[in-house]
Amino acid sequence: KRLKQGLEKTRDDMNYKINDILGNYVKIDDEMMEDLEDLLISSDMGMETTMTLIDRLKETIREKQIQDPKEVKGLLAEEIRAILEGDPERNRLHVEPSPAIILIVGVNGVGKTTTIGKLAYRFKREGKSVLIAAADTFRAAAIEQIETWGERSGTPVISHKEGADPAAVVYDAIQAQKSRNIDVLICDTAGRLHNKKNLMNELEKIHRIIEKEAPDAQKESLLVLDATTGQNAILQAKTFDEVTDLSGLILTKLDGTAKGGVVLPLVQELDIPIKLIGVGEGMLDLQDFSGKDFANALIS
Ligand code: GDP
Repeated sequence: KRLKQGLEKTRDDMNYKINDILGNYVKIDDEMMEDLEDLLISSDMGMETTMTLIDRLKETIREKQIQDPKEVKGLLAEEIRAILEGDPERNRLHVEPSPAIILIVGVNGVGKTTTIGKLAYRFKREGKSVLIAAADTFRAAAIEQIETWGERSGTPVISHKEGADPAAVVYDAIQAQKSRNIDVLICDTAGRLHNKKNLMNELEKIHRIIEKEAPDAQKESLLVLDATTGQNAILQAKTFDEVTDLSGLILTKLDGTAKGGVVLPLVQELDIPIKLIGVGEGMLDLQDFSGKDFANALIS
């Protein structure tokens, strides 16, 4: 239900425009398909995904000899479903059996801190013990913010001073996780994309520490993306994918945006599963991603 509510803007916007286009034509022709193409691109589906959708639509229309524009909406919904429904197992967060270490990466402002707070809260509700590592040492504000969220969710935070070596923070946090028998360690990191080489080195060093200090832990490396940035989110995902190994994506701020369509190119153009979605600012507004549910919430 939260998902349906969260995606309201995207859904209303898309449905309104689709109905508008289909209502303008008495029969399916090239011009109508071009209008549909424009609509999909303006809904942040990206060029590649839009072309795939349009090509598949045209093929079905030809095969089934469909003439009535009204039928196209159902066909489009089916194609969208086909792209989004993947293997649900791939979209699952792997944190069991304990211990688990989750690395959170992403540029400033995308909702990293909020997501870490929500995640910590979620694990606690599941009865797990949680620890946060404030390994975004680049900004003092980032350390303070993460400490605030730690307090809010009742989660201890391991931090060093501003400018400290992020890998050293992670190292200390892993030792604390071991000695306190903590189920899940969540590590915040600094996502300064403007210096790719530095970022790569920093993340590599953190990965090395984790591998060395906790070889048997369950590991996730998750990139947080802001859905409201549309095509920029795709670009960020591609760039981070070049810089580090990602095990999944978290897409935030899907509520209150009409850009939810960005999920399609993320699924189609990248081989990284979406694992979680943010649908609000509250502690409970973080959900597991289900392609099937998402497709159903997207079109009505
Ligand atoms: P960070 O710089 O990446 O750590 O970003 P923050 O966690 O500080 O979040 C930036 C802003 O986005 C804050 O105002 C958050 O409340 C907001 N935010 C984060 N996730 C969501 C979400 O899923 N939905 C909405 N509406 N806002 C969000």
